[in-house]
Amino acid sequence: MGIIVQKFGGTSVADTEKIKNVASAVIREKKNGNDVIVVVSAMGHTTDYLVKMANEITSRPNSREMDMLLATGEQVSIALLTMAIQAQGYAAVSMNAMQVGIITECVHSKARIVDIKTNKLKEHLDKGEIIVVAGFQGVTPEGEITTLGRGGSDTSAVAIAGALNADRCDIYTDVEGVYTTDPRIVPCATKLDEISYEEMLELAHVGANVLHPRSVETAKQYQVPLRVRSTFKLEDTGTYIIGVDDMEIYKPVAGVAADLSQIRIVVTEVPDKPGNAAKIFELLSNSDISVDMIIQSYGRSDDTNDIAFTVAKTDYEKTMEIVKEIIREIHASGVLVDEDIAKVSIVGAGMVDRPGIAASMFKALAEAGINIKMISTSEIKISCLVEKGQSNTAIKALHTAFHLDAKETAVVMGDLPDV
Ligand code: ASP
Ligand code: MG
Repeated sequence: MGIIVQKFGGTSVADTEKIKNVASAVIREKKNGNDVIVVVSAMGHTTDYLVKMANEITSRPNSREMDMLLATGEQVSIALLTMAIQAQGYAAVSMNAMQVGIITECVHSKARIVDIKTNKLKEHLDKGEIIVVAGFQGVTPEGEITTLGRGGSDTSAVAIAGALNADRCDIYTDVEGVYTTDPRIVPCATKLDEISYEEMLELAHVGANVLHPRSVETAKQYQVPLRVRSTFKLEDTGTYIIGVDDMEIYKPVAGVAADLSQIRIVVTEVPDKPGNAAKIFELLSNSDISVDMIIQSYGRSDDTNDIAFTVAKTDYEKTMEIVKEIIREIHASGVLVDEDIAKVSIVGAGMVDRPGIAASMFKALAEAGINIKMISTSEIKISCLVEKGQSNTAIKALHTAFHLDAKETAVVMGDLPDV
């Protein structure tokens, strides 16, 4: 007998019929002899609807009141799911973040969890009850309601699993697991049986929308065995997300993903002297703007450089305000904006210490007639910026080049992609 945390997303609890099905999936786990804690999101598109209403009232809703509003979505689903479990004859209790003690820092709309109290949870588990916890919400030490950022229920579930030292955290969703790439773009994408925390973290950050990135970070930190599986195909095993040491790595690249949410900004003819780059990026970071890719290249004259970087589209206006101010201060010549970009990335723990992966990537893109605007790398990821309209072609080319297409599942580590 162990402790299992199950998390069901908005599509899994979209209506009352679906909530009844979720109740059955929960009871199934309880019947296996486990202690069960369920974390749920708001029903269907409830959170989007609440955001829309706030924006109809004012274009700048107060962030405390926004959290007060958005936290209500999850409270509806925990009450209904608990009723559904009780109606099938099992003891269950719903709890919101305040009742559990999911303590966060005092930041509205994207708070981080700092502590989870386990005493109340354990009391209910000891009584044999199934506990249904509201995802996405937290409470500050002062008793203020916070939320963890959109998609944050995954993180609630993993953090609870970590705090209780659970045997597993199962994230139930509307897809069958983690795929080598988006199956809507590449129909021969394959479902991965397992993937490491590190790879999943990179994929989550570059646009594979299966899991909230912070949930993977938390799982890695507390070594919570995590699984993504389908609510609608309970017989499928899904994808296990585990430590890299527990994996057998056959391929250099585990997955390919695209991120269409960035724009590229180029500050032109920045005078070539110490401190100018620091000034640009310091001011951006002071305004909480995170910069992703950065390239410095020679400007049009000998004593200047062009500095290009990417930021989230949603930070565009704030970024431009800051950049315009800096240009005046450091006497750069101007700023160019490129909205027509997609960041395509290959990710794989198997690329560590294997030369030639970057060259293979660039060659595959070249053969597909795709120009690369910017490149960045980390230990297990290579990203290239390409034109937005070429994003799908790039993903298909890379998926094939790195032998990820369904028919080629038997390729092993020794076989370098022969692009
Ligand atoms: N209901 C929240 C959202 O839509 C949290 C979640 O679904 O994980 O973002
Ligand atoms: Mg979600």
